Amino acid sequence: MSVFENAQKQLNKAFKQINLSNDVHEILSRPKEAIQVNIPVRMHDGKLKTFEGFRVRYNDSLGPTKGGIRFHPNVSLDEVKALSFWMTFKCAVAGLPFGGGKGGVIVNPKELTKHELEQLSRGYMSAISDIVGPDRDIPAPDVYTNSMIMGWMSDEYNKITRKIQPGVITGKPISLGGSLGRDEATARGGYYIIKELVKKKGLNPKDLKVAVQGFGNAGYHIAKMLADDGFWIVALSDSKGGIYCNNCYLNPDLIMESKKAKGMIDNEYYKGSVADTENHSRITNEELLECECDILIPAALENQIIKDNANNIRAKYVVELANGPTTPEADEILEKNGVLVIPDILANSGGVTVSYFEWVQNNQGYYWSLEEVRNKLKEKIIPAFNDIYNIMEDKKIDMRTAAYVRALKLISEAIESKGTEDIFK
Ligand code: GLU
Repeated sequence: MSVFENAQKQLNKAFKQINLSNDVHEILSRPKEAIQVNIPVRMHDGKLKTFEGFRVRYNDSLGPTKGGIRFHPNVSLDEVKALSFWMTFKCAVAGLPFGGGKGGVIVNPKELTKHELEQLSRGYMSAISDIVGPDRDIPAPDVYTNSMIMGWMSDEYNKITRKIQPGVITGKPISLGGSLGRDEATARGGYYIIKELVKKKGLNPKDLKVAVQGFGNAGYHIAKMLADDGFWIVALSDSKGGIYCNNCYLNPDLIMESKKAKGMIDNEYYKGSVADTENHSRITNEELLECECDILIPAALENQIIKDNANNIRAKYVVELANGPTTPEADEILEKNGVLVIPDILANSGGVTVSYFEWVQNNQGYYWSLEEVRNKLKEKIIPAFNDIYNIMEDKKIDMRTAAYVRALKLISEAIESKGTEDIFK
């Protein structure tokens, strides 16, 4: 199943809702630029191994392209195209002056030594250095990449260009111009949205059972924020499996501690798993999706809620912290079953929003407090959520399509402002 084709289906649904020129459709149906690179790395045994990577700049109508870099064994050009497509709409939904891009390398970083990982990160940045830049394409972390990797890449770019340009990449270590609050930002954006939803629906956090799939940067932080706020965390998982507890409260901090207790691989990825936590029943990632809960938060990879399991989802709300966790077929089933899906391009836009703040701080050379970053994030994401919620109600469409409608208005205006077919009429 092509992830990119599925992503396109989401857009086509939104095109039916608004009247746009053919130009917009034509431009948004393919990426502006996509490169494939091969990165040779001298491995610790002396052999040379080549890793394949990609960088796609999908659309830059609203500004320089923006989006993370993924290190994962299942990366493909098709996936990176889809992810760069989602970034295009996410940046527009969030009201940022950015287009969408994405990068990826086919690798399991957990199998590399720290030195190999550094060589790969620097080699990748060097290979894509012609198409990135603070005013052209600005990468950031994504699945299995982190601030340490962003630091190496930023340093590599500065060496290549012989200039200090912190705005070339976001999600950097604070010491290299990173922003306070960037590490928790994806989760915090989702958390503000859940709080607003709870307020709108008149719900009580204490009655709301939450299941989170994925215990990486997004999954861990949102579980912690919700638990600290009195929500009832019943299920957690990571790539190795999960735990479930229907009659107790899972404590994300304790679970993180027990995961950390197993130590780290030399290159800073955890050896342990959520599933190792004692005294809780183990569940698989598939079972977690179907467990009894009110809010389901997929915070791992795409294609998790699919045609085959969508009917078994018991949550009333799905908050997509991952990119593309729900397929279009599953979307239809969830809608029919009355499940409200808060779409990825809105729900996880907190990450890129604080990346934007990081870029602004880098450009002005003046840095903000954590409180300022959090307040500015709140000021952006809550109105976006309410606006999209209203579009959904007014047009009687699902929330994903409503988010695309909001984004399309902005993107199409920019495309048309640059000139359209109308002059030939
Ligand atoms: N990888 C994140 C995402 O998918 C963040 C992108 C960014 O900060 O540029 O939204």
